[in-house]
Amino acid sequence: MKKRVLLTGASGSMGSAVLEAILSDKGFEVVVLLRRKRVNERLARILTRKYHSSIEIVFGDLSNYDDCMAVVDGVDYVVHCAAIIPPVSDHNPDLALSSNLGGTRNLVNAAKASKNSENIKFINIGSVAEYGHRSYPAHWGRVGDPLLVSAYDFYATTKVKAERHVVESGLEYWVSLRQSGILYDDILFHNMNDGLMFHTPWNCFIEWATARDSGRLIRNLLVLDSTEMLAPDFWRKCYNIGNGEEARVTGFETLDRGMNMMGRSAKDIFKPQWNATRNFHCFWYLDSDKLNDYLGFRSESFEALFDHLTKKFWYFKLGKPFPKTISRLAIQRLFHDSNAPMYWVSKNIDGRINAFYKSWEDYQNIPRCWKDYKLIESASLRDISSAQLLDLRGKTEISASDIAFIRNNEFDGQNRAVIFSHGYDESKADSQLGLEDMQSAAAFRGGRLTSSTMVAGDLYTKLEWECHDGHKFMASPYAVLKAGFWCPECCQPSPWDFDRLAKKIPFYAQIWYNSHSEDEDNVFAEDCYKDIL
Ligand SMILES: [Zn+2]
Repeated sequence: MKKRVLLTGASGSMGSAVLEAILSDKGFEVVVLLRRKRVNERLARILTRKYHSSIEIVFGDLSNYDDCMAVVDGVDYVVHCAAIIPPVSDHNPDLALSSNLGGTRNLVNAAKASKNSENIKFINIGSVAEYGHRSYPAHWGRVGDPLLVSAYDFYATTKVKAERHVVESGLEYWVSLRQSGILYDDILFHNMNDGLMFHTPWNCFIEWATARDSGRLIRNLLVLDSTEMLAPDFWRKCYNIGNGEEARVTGFETLDRGMNMMGRSAKDIFKPQWNATRNFHCFWYLDSDKLNDYLGFRSESFEALFDHLTKKFWYFKLGKPFPKTISRLAIQRLFHDSNAPMYWVSKNIDGRINAFYKSWEDYQNIPRCWKDYKLIESASLRDISSAQLLDLRGKTEISASDIAFIRNNEFDGQNRAVIFSHGYDESKADSQLGLEDMQSAAAFRGGRLTSSTMVAGDLYTKLEWECHDGHKFMASPYAVLKAGFWCPECCQPSPWDFDRLAKKIPFYAQIWYNSHSEDEDNVFAEDCYKDIL
């Protein structure tokens, strides 16, 4: 008997790679849910021709609960890749909300209501955008770090809320895999169509994942699980997806590698001030090896992917003699896009400037020539074992000297790194975690645990907590201690209020003051992201 898999998002860059990988194994049949539109009808014909009876295409909409019920019925696995991602989500936030949050809720609820709910396995794809921004020396991170969604990033707010619904679903089998920046063959074509491409700071740290490896990851998960080779402790956890050491680079290095395909440097095409300096996301993972240890999916390095692209798009090098023309026609034309920082500069949009550059003054102070701009080379920071390390794990107070270390001062060539605290004794096994660990974690988050009992080691029965602002809420110990969630009322934007929250919540302050100052006082309103519509 073949195992039956529901796959959402099969038309996307990750979902299409997942579909191909799963159906390379004879043990599975896949139900694909596609929104009815012309391009998907064409895709359906192509997929049916290619996979015959191994695939069933259903047209429907995740935001419709009945559609979700119909496709969840009878499946063994739900692989939920579907999401409206930036830049589409930036320009169509209503669709992002109904699809990303509404759709995930519907799917989870359908899985819970299905006859097979005790055995169904729900694989959610989360996002690195949930964590918000990190600069040197806060460039290493892990699951459990706080979720400090960047201002205006409405997409990430939908991903945080949707993931929380999965984590707290009560399903017997779920995982949330937080996807990183994803590299795929058409990335250059897709990314050079929107002002979004300038949101990535040059000195931003990215551990890429490739679409093909992510496809393999999901296939290996299904194969190992269905042959009972997957350790049972794999389930009911969040993981970071990343391709590991070979894929750890910076924003500049990534774009520069893309421009190398043309025989040019990014410096020939871009100017330093065109890109934001903060308020993005991505970091290098302290814990992405975990997923690879379970699933052994990594086989494509950053360099191998770009070698492949260089061969595939051999004609890019024809552009080599014309860097100024390419800069003007392909890049600077995007300054008219309302999602581009240069557009915000030209329209004096203070909120965006404050969020993405800190202030007008900071924007003005960015060197206009590359020779004056301090780029960080990833090679100098990759080896964390030789770093000057501030290890805050287990700490419940963050001192002024810790903050001084964490603050993103100008890069001085030193290999420094920080591992952040989750506010409880992490040396304890999960089975040993009890009330005092919950109380400690709550205090580090500026609040308290109001439940007075818990069964030691039970990380999934919800407890009652209270935030610094008096909001009472129910959350599992796993969600709070292990996955970075806190008060659903004031700590999940929108509005984006982290300047105020960081003053009350040490758990947030330790990362927030990496790229913000104590004297900043921004509140980005609930609907601020609509300014570019
Ligand atoms: Zn609150």
